[in-house]
Amino acid sequence: MPLRFFNTYSREPEEFKPRENKKIDIYTCGPTVYSRAHIGNFRAYVFEDLLVRHLEARGFKVHRVMNITDVDDKTIRGADEAKVPLQKFTQQFKDAFFEDADKLRIKRADEYPAATDQRYIDKMVAMISALISKGLAYQADDKSVYYRIKKFPNYGKLAHFNLDELQSTGRVKHDEYDKEHIGDFALWKAWDEDDGDVKWDSPWGSGRPGWHIECSAMATALLGDQIDIHCGGVDNIFPHHEAEIAQSEGVTGKKFVNYWLHCAHLLVDGQKMAKSLGNFYTVPDVLEKGYTGRELRYALMRVNYRTQLNFTWDGMKEARESLGRIDDWLERLRGIAENGPSRTGGKRSTSHVQRPTEDSEFEKALDDDLNISAALGFLFETIREMNRAMDENKLDPTTASVWLNWWNRINGTLDFESDDIELPEEVKKLAEARAQARLAKDFRKSDELRDKLIALGWEARDTKDGQKITRRAGAK
Ligand SMILES: [Zn+2]
Repeated sequence: MPLRFFNTYSREPEEFKPRENKKIDIYTCGPTVYSRAHIGNFRAYVFEDLLVRHLEARGFKVHRVMNITDVDDKTIRGADEAKVPLQKFTQQFKDAFFEDADKLRIKRADEYPAATDQRYIDKMVAMISALISKGLAYQADDKSVYYRIKKFPNYGKLAHFNLDELQSTGRVKHDEYDKEHIGDFALWKAWDEDDGDVKWDSPWGSGRPGWHIECSAMATALLGDQIDIHCGGVDNIFPHHEAEIAQSEGVTGKKFVNYWLHCAHLLVDGQKMAKSLGNFYTVPDVLEKGYTGRELRYALMRVNYRTQLNFTWDGMKEARESLGRIDDWLERLRGIAENGPSRTGGKRSTSHVQRPTEDSEFEKALDDDLNISAALGFLFETIREMNRAMDENKLDPTTASVWLNWWNRINGTLDFESDDIELPEEVKKLAEARAQARLAKDFRKSDELRDKLIALGWEARDTKDGQKITRRAGAK
């Protein structure tokens, strides 16, 4: 089956055809750096990471740009309230974004352009000038420049509605009376007092760019007039991405994006995340509960990107258990691959376990609009079957090695493998004492030691291959 994605533009799954044979350009809307991104934002970034890694695994060369929005209403308000310059205010959240992304093992994009870079401000001004000269934009009495959406026939194609609907459903607040149409959006916002010293010169007086034009300018400046894939969260579809199309195509006259991929919302305990509900979590909030970035990566990735994901603490525990299953399986597999040959004397395989195919069900599932639940289903089914075979001594070293190679291949996409945790000295001693107690069948002592480990934030699990020590859920 060919690689295919569900395209928001057509509302259909479509076979993926890059513009150039094996080269793909991807633009993804990045964070607005006015506060620390929450785990809902990171769900989208983890989905994009899966997308890029799968495309690379399929032999494509991906050029990926993710923008950083470091000027808009929220960043200006935040800097004003904190009484620091805009740059200084946004820098802390840029740093936090990269810190969190690293914890979640998200591969870096090739470029992270910032909206306030003069190079892109110039590009935004040039694009707005071009739109005005084509009659697609106008300066209103309030001195701001707006996009004239009535002049762009395709406006509403991405979000699938027409202009009359826009008016009647009140999807746009009627709070700016200088515009010709309530749906007209700002390309350039004229300076006002609230902006303080945040302003740039332009042919329309000093002011600052609107959020939508930032993305059109950075995308076309770095990737050209046309892009293979553009991603974001579903909340970006309207008005942000609709506006990006109107602006970019309005200037270039060419189709801006071939495939629009949007990630569904993340719920927390079945509800929309909100600071007022107390269910608003950042990556550090989750790590403070004793979970690792790897576990959160798993929890955010395991559900298909177009399906709502309900984040719960039980889900985090499941993530830990699932990764534990992978860890245990790998350890057994490595044991057989390394120690096995002496037993079989290098004889040919006597294994009852099938070897993975060159193109396994895992990759095929991801080809189908990144069907991660099917891909993981295949992985865990494989683990179950192989564990059974290993219990019955039916796995030979060569087959074990072949499966390890397979794992290394798919782990290049998943990045789920544990980085060995260094146990603190005290924990190591308690764990050794507990292992001894269990050997001596002194279960009372073993339980006491388990409680001591728990008090220190560690958990002892007893597996077929002995005791495993992991960080405990909920521990600091
Ligand atoms: Zn954007």
